[in-house]
Amino acid sequence: MNLYSIKELLKKGTQCLNEKVTVQGWIRSFRSNQFIALNDGSGQKNLQIVLDYNNFNTDLLKQLTNATSIKVNGVVAESKGAGQEIEVIAEEIEIYGYANPEEVQETILQPKKHSLEKLREQAHLRFRTNTFSAIMRVRNALSFAIHKYFNENNFCYINTPIITGSDAEGAGEMFTVTNFNLNNIPKNDNGDIDFTKDFFSKKTSLTVSGQLEGEAAAMGLGKIYTFGPTFRAENSNTTRHLAEFWMVEPEIAFYDLDKTMWLAEDFLKYCIKYAIDHCKDDLVFLNQRFEDEQKQKPKEEKTEHNLLEKLDFVLNNSFVKLSYSKAIEILKKSKPNQKGKFKYPIEKWGADLQSEHERYLVEKHFKSPVILYDYPAKIKAFYMRLNEDGKTVRAMDVLFPGIGEIIGGSQREERLDILKNKIEDFNIDEKELWWYLDTRKYGTVPHSGFGLGLERLVLFVTGMGNIRDVIPFPRTPNNAEF
Ligand code: ATP
Ligand code: MN
Repeated sequence: MNLYSIKELLKKGTQCLNEKVTVQGWIRSFRSNQFIALNDGSGQKNLQIVLDYNNFNTDLLKQLTNATSIKVNGVVAESKGAGQEIEVIAEEIEIYGYANPEEVQETILQPKKHSLEKLREQAHLRFRTNTFSAIMRVRNALSFAIHKYFNENNFCYINTPIITGSDAEGAGEMFTVTNFNLNNIPKNDNGDIDFTKDFFSKKTSLTVSGQLEGEAAAMGLGKIYTFGPTFRAENSNTTRHLAEFWMVEPEIAFYDLDKTMWLAEDFLKYCIKYAIDHCKDDLVFLNQRFEDEQKQKPKEEKTEHNLLEKLDFVLNNSFVKLSYSKAIEILKKSKPNQKGKFKYPIEKWGADLQSEHERYLVEKHFKSPVILYDYPAKIKAFYMRLNEDGKTVRAMDVLFPGIGEIIGGSQREERLDILKNKIEDFNIDEKELWWYLDTRKYGTVPHSGFGLGLERLVLFVTGMGNIRDVIPFPRTPNNAEF
C-alpha cells in the first residue's frame, strides 16, 4: 500500500492505475451508499472513493457521514464519472473519528448556505471549508513567495523585536506589555505609573513596525527584510484593519525613493504571479466565488473584471506614478467631490487622503494600481526624507483596487541635523531615539524601505471582502476568541 496525499494522487492520475493505495481525509459527502468525496486539505479537489456496500457492514456504512475522518485502502481505477480522471475502489475503510450529523452543523461545511461571519466562530471546521482552505493555501503560497523573492535578490531576513521599548515609532496606537499585578500597580510620587518597577524597568509595548530596528540592520547588512507579527490597538472596526497582522518590511541601504517604488512594484507582481502559477485550483474556485458574489451586488458596486482578470491586469500593466499634489488636483475636480459625495471633502492641499479618495483614484479615475509619492510632511512620519521644497517628504503609498493602501514606504531622512529638527517638531523625546540617531552619526547613507501588510495582499489575491477572512485567528476590537 502506497500512502498518498489526495493532491499527490490526483496529480499522478492514470500513472497510478491499478496501484494499491492508502488515502486519508474527511468525508465531504457520501451519496447513493456508494460515492465518498474525500478531502485531506492538500488541495481544492476531492478524491472520489467508490465502495460496494455489500462488502461493508451496515454499522460502518452508517458512520460514513459528513466530517467523519477515515482511512481508505483501495485500488486506483479510471473514473467513469465526469470531472475526475481517477477514483479509488475501496477495499478497507477505517473510521478515525465519527462526526454525529445531528451535532455537526452540516451547513457549516457548505459556506454557500452559511455566512463567513458564522464560520469565524468555528475555529477548526472553518479550515475544512472550500473557501477558507483555499484562502489559507493562497496565503501560504504568498508567504513563501515573499521569502523567495527577497532570498533571490540577496536580502537578509532579520527578526526585529516583538516587544519594543521605543514608543516613538508613531505608526499607530500600541498595546502595553506589562508584568505588573494589575490590582496593585506601583505609582511614583506624582501619581504616575512607575514603570521602573516593571519587568523591563521601562514602559514596553507590542511592536507596530520593525522599521526603525530594520534601519539599524540595513546600516550594516545593506539589504534586509523583516516578516513578522505586528500589533495596532487602533479601534478601527473596518474590513481592512486587524489588531494583529503580519507585516513585511524591506529596508535597503543606498536606495532612493524611485528605486524603492520600482522594487515595490516588482515585488508585488512577483508574489501575485507566484500565487497564479502555484494555486491554480484554489484561484479558479475563488474566482467562481467572486463572480457569484458580484451577481448579488448593486450595479454601481460591480467591478469590471473578475478575480483572475484583475490579477492579470495588475501583472500586465505598469502602476501609475503620481505626486500627492497632482492627486489633490484630480480629487478636487472629481465628480464625487463636486457633488459632495465624499465623506471627507477635499478642499485644499495638505488634506490627509482617506480610503474613499484612494479608491476613487485607483478604481474610477486611473483604473489601475497607483503609487502616490511626495506627501505633505505634516501628515507623514518624522523619519521621512524632506524634499527641497521644505514642505513635502519622500513618502510613497501603493494603492490597489478594492483595497486602498497595500504598501506604505519612504526614503528615510539620513541627514542628522534635519532629522533632529523633525523629531523636535513632532514632540518626540530625542533621548528615546539615541540608538536610531546613532545610525546617522557614524557613516550615514541614503536608504529607503516600505511595509506591506500580508493580509492586504491575501485579500487582494483571493478577492475576499473582509480582512478577517484571510487570517486563521483574527484579532479585532472585542474579539480574541480561541
Ligand atoms: P492605513 O492607512 O490603511 O490604516 P497605515 O498607513 O496606518 O495604514 P502603515 O503604517 O503605512 O499603515 O503600515 C504599512 C502597511 O501595513 C500598510 O500599507 C498596510 O498594508 C498594513 N497595515 C497597516 N495597518 C494595518 C492593520 N491594522 N491591519 C492590517 N494591515 C495593516
Ligand atoms: Mn501608510
